[in-house]
Amino acid sequence: MCIGDGICETICPEVFELRDDGLAYVINESPSEDLRASIEEAMEACPTECIHLEE
Ligand code: SF4
Repeated sequence: MCIGDGICETICPEVFELRDDGLAYVINESPSEDLRASIEEAMEACPTECIHLEE
């Protein structure tokens, strides 16, 4: 569902990386708690709602 606009990487580059294939990838699957706010911001900003957080 990712459309490759890079919003998630802009908001939280510690966790998301946009690659040459035009898709965003998770580069840190166990981010520290201090990144929670920016991850949740990326989730809410993603236009296709394809970011999900597993506790
Ligand atoms: S914000 Fe969503 S649609 Fe945009 S690059 Fe990230 S995962 Fe893909």
